[in-house]
Amino acid sequence: MNIKNYINGEFVNPIKNQWIDNYNPSIGEVYGQIPNSTEEDIEKAYQAANEAFPSWSKTTLDERSSILSKIAQLIKEKLDVLAEAESKDNGKPLSLAKAVDIPRASSNFQFFANAITQFASEAHESVGFNAINLTLRQPIGVVGCISPWNLPLYLFTWKIAPAIAAGNCVVAKPSEVTPMTAFLLGEICNEAGLPKGVLNIVHGLGNSAGQAIIAHPKIKAISFTGGTNTGAHIARTAAPMFKKLSLELGGKNPNIIFADCDYDKMLSTTIKSSFANQGQICLCGSRIFVEESIFEKFKEDFVKKVSELKVGIPFDSETNVGALVSKQHLEKVKSYINIAEEEGGVILFGGERVSVNGAENGYYLQPTIIQVDSNKCKLNQEEIFGPVVTIMSFKTQEEALTLANDVSYGLSATLWTNNLNRTMQMSQELQAGIVWVNTWLMRDLRTPFGGTKASGVGREGGFEALRFFTEPKNICIQY
Ligand code: NAD
Repeated sequence: MNIKNYINGEFVNPIKNQWIDNYNPSIGEVYGQIPNSTEEDIEKAYQAANEAFPSWSKTTLDERSSILSKIAQLIKEKLDVLAEAESKDNGKPLSLAKAVDIPRASSNFQFFANAITQFASEAHESVGFNAINLTLRQPIGVVGCISPWNLPLYLFTWKIAPAIAAGNCVVAKPSEVTPMTAFLLGEICNEAGLPKGVLNIVHGLGNSAGQAIIAHPKIKAISFTGGTNTGAHIARTAAPMFKKLSLELGGKNPNIIFADCDYDKMLSTTIKSSFANQGQICLCGSRIFVEESIFEKFKEDFVKKVSELKVGIPFDSETNVGALVSKQHLEKVKSYINIAEEEGGVILFGGERVSVNGAENGYYLQPTIIQVDSNKCKLNQEEIFGPVVTIMSFKTQEEALTLANDVSYGLSATLWTNNLNRTMQMSQELQAGIVWVNTWLMRDLRTPFGGTKASGVGREGGFEALRFFTEPKNICIQY
């Protein structure tokens, strides 16, 4: 199946007619080709977006809202097709794509369809000066949206929806590893009546197609989700051009478990926060810290539960853990497991590739639990981004906090306790953009989402996203 670029409302081949293989990770085989787009394709997409901007930015909020709602509705109607495409492209269990990825992509559009109708400009009366300040929130122009492979349509739409709701036109690039649902989104946008050129989806590699977006002098803002190194490179390229930047980067999140927690809820949620989507979620709690008094019990129960997870083909309804996204990524994750021993780690469960019947060349790995005795090791300091967690014990609240914060990342943290004072003390001190207490990955789309330290700059979600995608202009009128 050949994927095409979506530019100016049309599906087109890349100008240089170069292509990249697209893999189905669950069987380890090529199943199609995607455009290997170049600077010329990005320029064409930019021109289309730039031409669409004057009229799109002047559409009424009702018009924009109703088109976004229509896109949300169509995504819902095409749930099965989209979920199958996502699962095949990414390796994630079909059940997960159906329950999480695609419904959330629909919610992203519906949320911003509603939010834009509530987004108000501000006024400040300068009392005593006979003046009034009116702060407009104007769309920026043409903006770039670049997303990763782990939650393909979910994260792609999380950027595009607020960008177009705010009146911008977009040049977007999904990950070259998982392009399929972004391709299908183009058809949905046409069906929903999105004017041509408002959204342009260009496929290709990061260092060519992606690079052309971030280096384009007229693309005025970049919303990026992906790895920390890529984020740093984007900042180096885009900052001298004074582009607005939102960078949602990697994580190495602590999951801190106190003995006074609701144990059963903690245990079942910790299975998810460790291994959902094969551990390939930036918010996964990959460093588990457990209070000493329950450490042995937790170890035993956790290993038992994890051993019951079924690794298998994504389309099988019994599957809990699907395939990793690519061979290269599988090898990267495995390389961390291989250094566990050198680092004094003990593999309590997993660590091996899994050969799945009928899909022997798929990229399957056992969910893996490694006990470590220090937070300083690579396993605890570097983002693995796969089905691998470490566990270690702590004695006091202070020690837990020190361990949690002793890492370059600062995306999210999970805390399990029923002690209110401890909840408030720890939540205040944890160096993270998001703290979950007695839950994980519960998202209210109105709340700010993003990280601190090496996990990025800026916040997405709610009005934060609409503020990012608009330029404030203050008009001061004296009367
Ligand atoms: P990646 O940085 O390799 O790629 C992300 C996107 O950037 C892809 O579309 C890629 O083609 C593009 N890209 C690469 N080089 C580029 C360049 N020079 N210029 C412009 N674009 C370029 O990341 P990945 O491997 O796709 O995704 C995994 C990473 O994403 C992990 O680190 C994970 O933690 C992070 N992530 C973060 C969040 C968050 O919200 N903070 C969410 C999901 C994933």
